[in-house]
Amino acid sequence: MLPGVRLVVLGKQGAGKGTQCVRLSHHYVVPHVSTGDELRGEVKSRTPLGLRAKEVMDRGELLPDDLIMEMVKGRLGEGDTRARGFILDGCPRTIPQAEALDRLLAPDRLDLVIDLEVPTAQVLKRLASRRVCVDCGTNYSVAQPPMVNWTCDVCGGEVVQREDDTEEAIARRLDNYERQTAPLIAWYTERDLLVPVNGTGSPDTVTKRAIRVIEERRAAPGRLP
Ligand SMILES: [Zn+2]
Repeated sequence: MLPGVRLVVLGKQGAGKGTQCVRLSHHYVVPHVSTGDELRGEVKSRTPLGLRAKEVMDRGELLPDDLIMEMVKGRLGEGDTRARGFILDGCPRTIPQAEALDRLLAPDRLDLVIDLEVPTAQVLKRLASRRVCVDCGTNYSVAQPPMVNWTCDVCGGEVVQREDDTEEAIARRLDNYERQTAPLIAWYTERDLLVPVNGTGSPDTVTKRAIRVIEERRAAPGRLP
């Protein structure tokens, strides 16, 4: 079997990060660890960590680094990720998180940080055309609407544009993301861990590009074990 991998995937909203993480996790047979999904799970199961997180979010505040890292530590400490690695999605978001992740993994380290690059104009267009079912959350787009009159194919609910999906709001979110992520990208670049991957084109094409850079790293002497 292919060796596993310890990977962080960065990418702005609409860059196809979630899709690529799932594909890479299948390819390398390692779990896709999404902090968003983990968090929803913790909240739903009302774990002590989930209850603490909910309290913070209900106040409209951002989750503190230590809470995020406690959750990530728990997940990365499980047997499957210890044995083969992980595709980490949604963390780190800040340099303190990146430092904490480093300590968490020691004496091992990340193999690579992939930055999925898609031009802002392109994701802006993609996100602004997005429509979503208010009842079940199924995604549609202006180009691929439901079969009947903006009524969800899955559940019959109403399909609308989310309030925070206007072009102006999206542009603001993308701007915030870039501002927040720039120092992180610099930090991983300094440590020779960051590799940009062109995120445009079909999902298949992008996955192949990502696998190629991972394998190139593996093949380089003195890099991946
Ligand atoms: Zn629906």
